[in-house]
Amino acid sequence: MYETLIKELEKSKVKLVAVSKTKPAEAILELYNKGQRVFGENRVQECVKKYEQLPKDIEWHIIGHLQKNKVKHIAPFISMIHSVDSIELLTKINNEAIKNDRTIDCLLQMKIAVEESKFGLDSASLLHMIQSDAIQQLKNIRILGLMGMGSFVSDESISQREFQVLKNQFDRIKKMKILHDSFEILSMGMSGDYKLAIAQGSNMVRIGSLLFGSR
Ligand SMILES: *Cc1c(COP(=O)(O)O)cnc(C)c1O
Repeated sequence: MYETLIKELEKSKVKLVAVSKTKPAEAILELYNKGQRVFGENRVQECVKKYEQLPKDIEWHIIGHLQKNKVKHIAPFISMIHSVDSIELLTKINNEAIKNDRTIDCLLQMKIAVEESKFGLDSASLLHMIQSDAIQQLKNIRILGLMGMGSFVSDESISQREFQVLKNQFDRIKKMKILHDSFEILSMGMSGDYKLAIAQGSNMVRIGSLLFGSR
């Protein structure tokens, strides 16, 4: 599966985050040995444990909702945080990055799904946040793009519309040129909807069950 998927993604220049949450270190190593280096986790404790066990050239991404008091545990090593949804969290990440003498790459999560359970900023809060003075003060984070999760629905036209909303917001913010020069990542698409997401302009997909089997 991995080989076919990675070929398909490379053709469209889309980066793969292999979502390894709940899966054991051996399963991760198996993909690592095939060349995969970027893995995504949604829980801090689990991510720290796997970081300690596994090769140090793995790039770990946090993709799930992140609590401020847990940032300190991942700050020493995390490569990217996809789920930033408030200026308070971003400030916390910046402070912990300073303590570790690092810069931490972040994506802002926008709520695009109609489902109530999904985290993320609505469009107005997102624009408000990126235009705030506070964000300009944070020198140890880089905001490199946006992330969103589509609804879990069988009606593809719903997901398609949600991904379009995120792509439009991404293009709009990119044009404003107020964030980092390399504001270029659009993280959208999972096992069930990654093709649809890529067709709407995604350039980073987060795929778990398709690679590792169901959870
Ligand atoms: C679990 C998860 C994924 C991967 O889901 P699959 O359907 O297994 O591919 C992607 N993104 C987020 C935020 C997740 O929590």
